[in-house]
Amino acid sequence: MWIFFRKFAQLRIKMLFEQEARLTVYPKELWSDQLISQEVLWPKIKSAIQQNRFPHFSLLLGKPGNGQLVLALSIAQALFCKTEQKPCGTCEACRKITYLIHPDLHFSFPLNKPKETCQQHYASWRTAIQEKPFMSISDWFQYLSDESKNANISVTEINNFSQLLTLRPFESDVTVLILWLPEYLGKDSNRLLKLFEEPPANVFVILVSENSELLLPTVLSRAQLFRMQSIQLDHASALLSDKYNVSRDIAYSTLLSTDKNVQEAIQLIEQKSSPSIDVLKKLLQITYSYQVGPMLQWVETFLELNREEQKKFIEWIQLLLSFVLRIKFSGNSDLDFPENQMMAYSKKLSNSLTLIQIEKWVDLMDDCHMAIQRNANVKILMTDFCIQLSGILKSSSSNN
Ligand SMILES: [Zn+2]
Repeated sequence: MWIFFRKFAQLRIKMLFEQEARLTVYPKELWSDQLISQEVLWPKIKSAIQQNRFPHFSLLLGKPGNGQLVLALSIAQALFCKTEQKPCGTCEACRKITYLIHPDLHFSFPLNKPKETCQQHYASWRTAIQEKPFMSISDWFQYLSDESKNANISVTEINNFSQLLTLRPFESDVTVLILWLPEYLGKDSNRLLKLFEEPPANVFVILVSENSELLLPTVLSRAQLFRMQSIQLDHASALLSDKYNVSRDIAYSTLLSTDKNVQEAIQLIEQKSSPSIDVLKKLLQITYSYQVGPMLQWVETFLELNREEQKKFIEWIQLLLSFVLRIKFSGNSDLDFPENQMMAYSKKLSNSLTLIQIEKWVDLMDDCHMAIQRNANVKILMTDFCIQLSGILKSSSSNN
């Protein structure tokens, strides 16, 4: 009787395992399958790993939405893979990297609480990467329950991962740290210099950056740099059009309007429009007619955004203005994307603004962006911004 129960229990456990294995639907096994337009860079890196020549301290650099995080994961998968193929996508190590559960793969990324470590947020981090592998920092903060005014990689976190890297690997011969957005390392990153200079023999540190200008010179001089290949519009629009079931034209124009930022393009395709257009329309309306009350109200709404979102909105206006300028110069001829709301609005603005007005506005946005970057008082800054924008919009069109 007892044996029967034990057998039954074993069988039941086996069934549960099998059931779970059947129910779990995982994304693609190889991270490198998700890379876009890296046909030259990726094989080069892969062959370096296969020949044991991949540097222990590397820096992957590309524009936002270019996929450098996906490349870092592809590299990690190849470094951990147990087969000659490196990466095979099927061995145990490869699969653990696919699901981001390999105990020797560590991550570090910006947070908003200086006392917390990234390990405490690994669950949200895994979800974020699986859902949005091309994500930006503001996408990431949506996965954290708190809002962020000042994203940062804190001393607590630096100490934590430095400690982790001194431990012997658990399952593999190597330990890998993917440090996402090292531009958010503060002055305390000086204590990492020794690690960057001579990483332990079994440690690989991969920095994943969007803006080399914000990196410490010491980091830049020590890391081996890999520049992402720029996203090819034809290639990327074919992929997005298949995946999101939109025409290639729409995928193409959306990618163009986001300056080839894949994640932003996906978001626009999913939303079918950009909410920023409405916010901007409102701003232009109230500043043009110089309505002080609504202008202050608009500033208050802007203050509700966190600092990353504020920067993103400014960057979005800068991008829109670059389209307005291009249309102004090309006379509409080479830009014809009727299905994209942003492009349509750019055309409208290019008709109603003079070149001098656009240039002044571009300068104003540059100043604004820099001031927010430098932690200016946003309320004063944006109030002044509204007044100046009002001046620009009302300035005489005879300057054309
Ligand atoms: Zn493998």
